[in-house]
Amino acid sequence: MSDARAPAPTSDPQLTVQSIGSGSSGNALIVRAGAQAILVDCGLGVREITSALRAHGIRLATLDAILLTHEHSDHIRGLERVLRHEIPVIATPGTHRAARIPLAAQEPIAPHAPVTVGAIECWALSVRHDAAEPCGYFIETPAGNLTVLTDLGSWRDNLTEALRASDLVVVEANHDLAMLRNGPYPAYLKRRVASDNGHLSNADCALALITAFGDGTPLPEIWLAHLSATNNIPSLATEAITTALRRQDLETPVTALPRRAVGPVWRSRSGGAARFRPPPVQLGLGIEEHPRR
Ligand SMILES: [Zn+2]
Ligand SMILES: [Zn+2]
Repeated sequence: MSDARAPAPTSDPQLTVQSIGSGSSGNALIVRAGAQAILVDCGLGVREITSALRAHGIRLATLDAILLTHEHSDHIRGLERVLRHEIPVIATPGTHRAARIPLAAQEPIAPHAPVTVGAIECWALSVRHDAAEPCGYFIETPAGNLTVLTDLGSWRDNLTEALRASDLVVVEANHDLAMLRNGPYPAYLKRRVASDNGHLSNADCALALITAFGDGTPLPEIWLAHLSATNNIPSLATEAITTALRRQDLETPVTALPRRAVGPVWRSRSGGAARFRPPPVQLGLGIEEHPRR
């Protein structure tokens, strides 16, 4: 359930999630569960992050961890200053290296080996993107579960189980394919964005959701993330995905996250969705993928 107000700064047993910004101009997501608060990505200025945290009654210095998806600047821009507070940085070893995270702050994570932050269990979900060792996250808490998947060029079947076990899914809907093809980007950049190591289109995002929930598994609420300012429009993305879901008789609230402003506050109702069981295919590199159109 989303609403525009931040929760009262008390010890709240619920899972609370809010985006501070989403897209190439900067990404950061607040996740609060009980006494713990973490940030997924740190791609905004320290002032924006501090003020968004303050609305939740959280001080920057008391953040329990930062989870990084990868080292691109729109995901780590604010990190250097935030790290003065000695906050542990959970990321894959490749991202730690590429983002030059000080050794003392590194908390490595790998698929199938979750890292626990108080009552929060964080699972890395490997994705394809043109970064050193990118990943998404499945975040499991006693009050509910969340999947965060931005910056991925293609959908892998290893991600589907995480969606099905989530109460809220934050997933990339970067571009409309026709807008990208006909838009102003130079050819090399169009190829990069549309490649398997680039970004997920509206259509790919819809297909992933239909594949995950087409069997009648209850849908989580969906937040669309990392929308391109040039090759997408929030209403177009929302409409494309809602319409594709409705064609399969699937209904759920779908919200496009603002690029340069805080998004709505999501709070879990009670309890979580089904428990996440990472599929064994994550162990190997020979991962099945949906055929691209
Ligand atoms: Zn990005
Ligand atoms: Zn990226």
